[in-house]
Amino acid sequence: MSARILVVDDVPANVKLLEARLSAEYFDVTTASNGTEALALARRAECDIILLDVMMPDMDGFEVCRRLKTDPATHHIPVVMVTALDSPSDRNRGLEAGADDFLTKPVSDVVLIARVRSLTRLKMMTDELRMRAITSLEIGMQAPERSAIADAGKGGRILLVDDRQSSYERLATILAAEHTIDVEPNPTEALFHAAEGNYDLLIVSLDLNNFDGLRLCSQARSLERTRHVPILAIAEAENATRLLRGLEIGVNDYLLRPIDKIELLARARTQIRRRRYTDHLRDNVQNSIEMAITDALTGLHNRRYMESHLATLAEQASTRGKPLALMILDIDYFKSINDNYGHDAGDDVLREFAVRVRKSIRGIDLACRYGGEEFVIVMPETDLHVAGMVAERLRRSIAGEPFAVHKGTKRIEVTISIGLTTLEQKGEAVADVLKRADTALYRAKHDGRNRVVSQAA
Ligand code: GH3
Ligand code: MG
Ligand code: MG
Repeated sequence: MSARILVVDDVPANVKLLEARLSAEYFDVTTASNGTEALALARRAECDIILLDVMMPDMDGFEVCRRLKTDPATHHIPVVMVTALDSPSDRNRGLEAGADDFLTKPVSDVVLIARVRSLTRLKMMTDELRMRAITSLEIGMQAPERSAIADAGKGGRILLVDDRQSSYERLATILAAEHTIDVEPNPTEALFHAAEGNYDLLIVSLDLNNFDGLRLCSQARSLERTRHVPILAIAEAENATRLLRGLEIGVNDYLLRPIDKIELLARARTQIRRRRYTDHLRDNVQNSIEMAITDALTGLHNRRYMESHLATLAEQASTRGKPLALMILDIDYFKSINDNYGHDAGDDVLREFAVRVRKSIRGIDLACRYGGEEFVIVMPETDLHVAGMVAERLRRSIAGEPFAVHKGTKRIEVTISIGLTTLEQKGEAVADVLKRADTALYRAKHDGRNRVVSQAA
């Protein structure tokens, strides 16, 4: 899918020019001639990147940017400010308003396309994460955007890789006003240092002696522990072509020497905020994954997880020639617990039951809620004899101690029946193992409940 670019400018000729260049690169271009129109389009999620003219009547670009960046519906859309004059005060006002980048008129084709491409990649990634996070939000989880917007991007941990003392001393002093900063003057140590340090931002000089700073950037991008750490490159103005190369390999942003103090601080803050934002989203995705494999009432694994994982465990057991035991547990007369004490009491019993199960099994055993009041426990490297003892202990831990319900005001007797079997040594379909355990369970019920029945393979 090609990225959709919104070009905002009050001068029709400027709009036409940018539109033509971007369309030639197969971007999908929409246009707006004022801030109000741009905000409306952005809120309808009709663009991936916004190229925003600074000087416009009514609402200027800074104000449009500020509104975009404080609205949860639009603040993740990258904004590139297009300025007529490359004055530091304009840049700083834009950065303060939350702009992601700048282009100076007349806009060079190479720079335009490189910046738009790099921001497109970032946007695609955050879109995917946001989509998943919104799904979690719909099922009652914390909105990650709120805290991310409030984050000022200060108090970050930064690693500065620069081998020129006069340069790194000046940069470190500036950055130390808002962050914790480590300096690594030796580029060959830098990757290791970066991987060990849990940094929020890497700042890499591309003018290192006898060392290609871009190589370092590319290595940092491929290493698991630094893959998500933003990189800010620093270069001499005549090195601009290497910077473009850098943006292509995943450098997030750059600064040209001589470095303006306010711009350095602002760009560092932006990268750190972005890093924290994507981290929030990633945590959220992690939570959703956990939710997808966990039963909400008992905290045990759910059936879907068990079914996919059981196949792996069975395969491992047969290739390693180890036994694998499996039991199905079913609470006796559970329906009458619900009928006599209410559904809430039934839920209390299920929760407490899970607690007792967890206490009776090892960490490598897999316990899951298979259905309403039916549970499955899979025990690697366990033969029928040992599994029988575990099952018996479990049965006793349930029957031996009444269950507290209604906030501890009532105690009720609960028993379980267990069907137990093992995987055939030469390997066997897991469905057959489950079926054999179920048959054993049926016999336990039939023979009077509150008992364990083992069925050899
Ligand atoms: P048996 O000894 O033969 O297993 O009898 P039983 O009553 O335990 O078995 P049956 O399958 O007839 O009933 C199971 C009951 O479990 C029916 C269902 O309403 C109840 N149940 C299923 N899931 C939940 C739940 O999440 N909470 C509560 N409170 N009850 C549940
Ligand atoms: Mg039952
Ligand atoms: Mg049942």
